[in-house]
Amino acid sequence: MSLQSSNKPGGGLAKRRVIVTGGARGLGAAFVEALAAQGAHVVFGDVLHAEGQALADRLGGDVHFMPLDLADPADIDSFVARAAQRIGGVDAVINNAAITNSGGRFADELSIETWDAVMNVNVRGTWRMCVAVLPFLRESSCGRVVNIASDTAMWGAPKLLAYVASKGAVISMTRSLAREFGAHGITVNAIAPGLTEVEATAYVPAERHAYYQQGRALTRPQVADDVTGPVLFLLSDAARFVTGQVLPVNGGFVMN
Ligand code: NAD
Repeated sequence: MSLQSSNKPGGGLAKRRVIVTGGARGLGAAFVEALAAQGAHVVFGDVLHAEGQALADRLGGDVHFMPLDLADPADIDSFVARAAQRIGGVDAVINNAAITNSGGRFADELSIETWDAVMNVNVRGTWRMCVAVLPFLRESSCGRVVNIASDTAMWGAPKLLAYVASKGAVISMTRSLAREFGAHGITVNAIAPGLTEVEATAYVPAERHAYYQQGRALTRPQVADDVTGPVLFLLSDAARFVTGQVLPVNGGFVMN
């Protein structure tokens, strides 16, 4: 592939072997659909089995759903082994799955159980997924990790502490893992989306939606497809020398 053609953002992803976590709905489903449109080989996992299988059935091609529970480290290992077998290796992982519905309470109203559940999935699960895919990424000539963080960790969103802390950890892990994995030619980057209109954010109070919309440089609601382009870019050859970075994708609500 010539440098010119491989430098198209999002180009060159045909046959790329990609794992997506939390792909059954919302942003993860948008990433799966965008990858399918590029001709990538995709395995996506989720705890929402019926929704995940329905999406895979609808997309067809080399796009597969497999059950995955990121709260269970042994399940992560077995998911990655089966996924790699299914698509013949792994070139990239999009760590998108997260517990996203822990908001609405002040710090002193949060339960220990909620805190631990959020950390176990969003932080420990992301770490264990990165470790599980590492042997496969080492074998790839274009190893990529894209972590989906959140701009809430950058502006200090209130009444969302467990989630915000977990996304701050994802941003920090992105930087450290970029240095650890860089020795193998693997890039590790994070996208920090702003408040996006998906099923999961229907519970977010109208004032928070309005706060975002008024605070953006681009004053319209954010939709899932606003985030797919930047993710495809980070997976592409055009981003081959970009690593350890956090890219806010939020219409200019937070500027890095
Ligand atoms: P979502 O809740 O619809 O997506 C999360 C997905 O992860 C769901 O499909 C869910 O079933 C899955 N999941 C949850 N726990 C899991 C587990 N234990 N194992 C496997 N899968 C599990 O919400 P979304 O808005 O589509 O969020 C996708 C990502 O984008 C998340 O990382 C979220 O933090 C991030 N994000 C979203 C927004 C937004 O406004 N929508 C903003 C910033 C960041």
